[in-house]
Amino acid sequence: MPVPLEVGITRSAGTAAAGKRVLLAEPRGYCAGVDRAVETVEKALEKHGAPIYVRKEIVHNRHVVDTLAERGVVFVDETDEVPAGSVLVFSAHGVSPAVHAAAAARDLHTIDATCPLVTKVHQEAKRFARDDYDILLIGHEGHEEVEGTAGEAPDHVQLVDGPGAVDAIRVRDEAKVIWLSQTTLSVDETMETVKRLREKFPLLQDPPSDDICYATQNRQVAVKAMAPECDLVIVVGSRNSSNSVRLVEVALGAGAKAAHLVDYAREVDPAWLDGVQTVGITSGASVPEILVRGVLDLLSEHGYRDVQTVTTANETLVFALPRELRAARQGG
Ligand code: SF4
Repeated sequence: MPVPLEVGITRSAGTAAAGKRVLLAEPRGYCAGVDRAVETVEKALEKHGAPIYVRKEIVHNRHVVDTLAERGVVFVDETDEVPAGSVLVFSAHGVSPAVHAAAAARDLHTIDATCPLVTKVHQEAKRFARDDYDILLIGHEGHEEVEGTAGEAPDHVQLVDGPGAVDAIRVRDEAKVIWLSQTTLSVDETMETVKRLREKFPLLQDPPSDDICYATQNRQVAVKAMAPECDLVIVVGSRNSSNSVRLVEVALGAGAKAAHLVDYAREVDPAWLDGVQTVGITSGASVPEILVRGVLDLLSEHGYRDVQTVTTANETLVFALPRELRAARQGG
């Protein structure tokens, strides 16, 4: 029976009053965009047969990528590595118009698994570029999503990689400046960057709606709720997963005594557990639940059998598959 803690947080009852315990953040793991992207590749394999090609990692998770590779998916960095006429899936992080054009030039059959919430930011970039705004895109240099979004309007977009990058930003007209962001940032750090930008450009406009997506925000809220009680937080996720890395930072910022990122249970160093009573567990938006189960099993072997779920939101969002795969499913 869930025990209400305060507005917006519920918690399952524990089995022991004291001693070693695990707090399990909810929501955690797969978001609607990752679910759709992975299913897109699976359906494309079923429909077209191996090999199919995926530009970049379909989602930033080692296990997901390795599992799909074993089934005949070939991951490439660029379209020119794909044989002409082949099936190419674009990853959840989105691509620029230049990449679409390069794929068309090679006569590739493309399937776009870009998350609809990333596409939304692309549309915003296009719209404000059309209106000749300077667009300050808050995000991490080199991340595929940022490259895709910036590529929609390269002449209008400047990247702002955190609060420290604000000083160097120059705009043409301070009355026509808007900020947008990568979908998987730390909410708090982004707000700090926006604050610094607004001090410099008081007329800075906000995006029409949140660019940091619901899944990123929900996972950060959940980890913040449990972190103050945790001696250690284990975040399951890959090092190139932006939202997973942010969860480690958010856990530490919210009071966890230590926090580590692991792809697999085998990466948990037993020394991390020395003197630890409460371990918090969460996982990034690209992480299958089986990997969290692995960590729970490992902790159980170390005596952490009391598992309490800390719930801060219930997620129900589901995205439809890309049109061509929906039709294939309906047609059997
Ligand atoms: S993390 Fe957010 S933007 Fe990225 S795939 Fe998931 S829902 Fe979409």
